[in-house]
Amino acid sequence: MIIDLHTHSTASDGTEPPAALVRHARDVGIDVLGLTDHDTTAGWAGAAAAAEAAGIRLVRGIEVSTATDRLGVHLLAYAPDPHDRGLTDELAAIVHAREDRLQAMLDNLAGVGIELSEADVRRHSGDAEGVGRPHVAQALVDAGHVPDVPSAFAELLAPGGPVWAKRYAPDTAAMIRIVTAAGGAAVIAHPWGRRGGAGRSTRDVLTGEVLEQLVVAGLVGVEVDHPEHDPTTRDELRALARDLGLVVTGGSDYHGTRKVGHELGCDTTMPEELERLLAAADLHAQARSAAMK
Ligand code: AMP
Ligand code: ZN
Ligand code: FE
Ligand code: FE
Repeated sequence: MIIDLHTHSTASDGTEPPAALVRHARDVGIDVLGLTDHDTTAGWAGAAAAAEAAGIRLVRGIEVSTATDRLGVHLLAYAPDPHDRGLTDELAAIVHAREDRLQAMLDNLAGVGIELSEADVRRHSGDAEGVGRPHVAQALVDAGHVPDVPSAFAELLAPGGPVWAKRYAPDTAAMIRIVTAAGGAAVIAHPWGRRGGAGRSTRDVLTGEVLEQLVVAGLVGVEVDHPEHDPTTRDELRALARDLGLVVTGGSDYHGTRKVGHELGCDTTMPEELERLLAAADLHAQARSAAMK
């Protein structure tokens, strides 16, 4: 049983449309696929139809851009009601902030002598709900300003870099409450991954103590098995998850051709952990319908 709970499609910054991603997953032997586009559920319908046809199980997810102590923290929300007002309002605010940030990044690029137009970026974002830095990175590669996407981040787009612009992100604990109230199960994505801002990493911010507070807010799990975690990090995080009673998930963070080292199925979730995750979401959904009566 191969379970990959973290992937992206063209609904955000992946390079394969949702249905194609599902078929690709089936072709490489994946049994359960989590679609977790950034800040949107727009890919769910296409993925669901394709999953039904391909005979694989789809887990509906979102990777929500949140912040703790001013540092970006990605929150995976599994199986929330996509029409829940609290959730849709917050996702709309984030997508809106992505538009504002795009303008700021284009201004910053002009400031370092790089003329990039909005159309150059839109060519890569296509019908994505929210424009991301990977789309800008790709546009910069295309225009010959940098050799590849990782260089675009390292030289220009990373926090502290000359083009970096901050954008609105909801507080992680507040977002966990919103996801829970929407009948979903919240999991911190790559909690101790290598990305960080200007000298700080999420590891500095997401300490055991902070994670314990997030559990009080309703956190269900942590993504332990992720390509950005080395073996030692995984061991430490797994032990912490055990202490806190958190579900342990894993996923590739596949983005198609836009991100290397994240092949479909390269990191996976154990079947019993998936069942615990979905049971928690079920419980939250029941509490939600009871509250609405
Ligand atoms: P955004 O949410 O638009 O700020 O973009 C975040 C996305 O950019 C992440 O999900 C990653 O896929 C990608 N990303 C972040 N840092 C890097 C990096 N150093 N190299 C390549 N991709 C990155
Ligand atoms: Zn991404
Ligand atoms: Fe992420
Ligand atoms: Fe991701």
